[in-house]
This record gives sequence, structure tokens and C-alpha cells, in this order.
Amino acid sequence: MLISSSKLLKNAKQNHYAFPHFNFWDSNSIRAEIMAAEELKLPVILAWAQKHSPEIGIEDALALGKYYGNKANVPVVLHLDHGVDVDTVEYGVTHGFTSVMIDASDKDFNENVRETKIIGSYAHERGIVVEAEIGHVGTNSTKDGSMYTEVAAAQEFARLTNVDSLAVSIGTSHGVYKQGTPKLSFSRLAELEKAVPIPLVLHGGSSSGDENLARAAKQGITKVNIYTDLANAALNATQKNSFLSEPDMAFAQRKAVKDLAEHYYKVFGTVNYQYTI
Ligand SMILES: [Zn+2]
Repeated sequence: MLISSSKLLKNAKQNHYAFPHFNFWDSNSIRAEIMAAEELKLPVILAWAQKHSPEIGIEDALALGKYYGNKANVPVVLHLDHGVDVDTVEYGVTHGFTSVMIDASDKDFNENVRETKIIGSYAHERGIVVEAEIGHVGTNSTKDGSMYTEVAAAQEFARLTNVDSLAVSIGTSHGVYKQGTPKLSFSRLAELEKAVPIPLVLHGGSSSGDENLARAAKQGITKVNIYTDLANAALNATQKNSFLSEPDMAFAQRKAVKDLAEHYYKVFGTVNYQYTI
């Protein structure tokens, strides 16, 4: 069954745990992620990121998400991750995503507010929830660093946009880290948690360290986005064995992705809370 993330994230906020958000990039990965959720009998947030369009387009992602999501015996949120233009996100709203993110975080505050408000009213009229981002969760290239989210700006942004959840930057980055585990600012997270009434989201969860992520989930983060670690788990499973058949290799990839997905449900404390819809 496909559901909204609204109640999940509010529940996580109230009870101090987080939901994992898993990106999928093909049918193998989405099946593995659903298997993990079914094994643990927990809801799952499955996401297609617009930047993955070269690997899997929005139509294919919607087809896979709706097919496997409706077939799953746990609730599934189908989320559009990092929508970068209004047209694509609006298309996602009307074609089956139950949650969307508009990411105008690389633009200035007013433009970020403006684009988020456009998506906010369009999506809310249709019963779809919206995530936006303030501050900037960069990638680990030399040019594109992260900028911590300012508390007052986040508070003002949430008030002006009426957005449902907010991605904040407290020291994580997308991709893998060049130099070990990142240092997260838990004091900034505490200030944000106090000042912003809506659920907070952490991007760039991969390789951020289980201890960091567990603490972030306890201290106000309600969703942690994971992509790179899952893709690398599938790759490592492929590289460390010499398979005699493609189906055997695909099976090993699914198992690696499923095991890691289950691990993150444990790290974020999702397993401690039996969620009923
Ligand atoms: Zn992200």
C-alpha cells in the first residue's frame, strides 16, 4: 500500500527515532529494500532522485514504485528526492509520488521560499506532502561544500513556506567521505529541533557513522537519506565473488542491499517502535 510520510515523520519526531529513506535505482534495489521492510514489518520510504534520471527515468521509477509499493505487505512511501525544477516535481505530484522534495537550496533564501511555496500549494491541494532544504548539503567534491543551516533562517523558512519537513545541514555530505567519519554539529541540531516545529531530515547519511546517525535520530532527525552505502553494498557483493550466473549475482546484490537496509532500521531506532497505520 502506498501512503504519505506525514504521520510517519510526526511519529518519529514525537518518539525520538528516524525512518530510513532508501533511494532505488533499478528493480533489484527496490525489491531488496522492500524485503528488508517486510522482514522487520516496518513502513519504508523509497525514493527516486531526479539526478538519477540517466540511470532510471521518472516514468520507470513511478512504474516500479507503484507496482512494488502496492504489492508490498508493509506501508510504502514513494518519494521524489531532490526535485530540481518545478515542472518535474509537479509531474511527480500528479503521477503517483506520495511525497516530493523541491530542492532550491543552492539558490538564495527568497528564491528557495518562492519555489517551495509554488510546490507547496500545488502538492497540498492534491494531498501530497513536501520536503524542502535549507542550508546546503554538498557533495564531497572540492567545489561543493556543505553550509550549516542557520537556525533563524530555518525557522523563518518553515513559517513562510508551510512545508511538511525540512532537510537541514549539520555536517553530512552526499556520497562517501574522503577523510573518515564526519563531525556533525549536534549543538546546531538541538537548536534547530527547538526552533523548527516540523520534522527535520538528514541527507547524506551514507558512511556518516552509525554512532552519529543513531544520535541524530535520537536528537531530532526524523528521516535519514541513504543511497551511496546501498549502491556500494551491491557493488561489493558483485566484486568479492566470481559468479557463474547473472541471477546468482543479482541475488547476492539483493541480499547485500537488504542486509544493510535492515541494519539502518536498527541504527535509527525504527525497530524499537511498532508502527501501526
Ligand atoms: Zn540528498
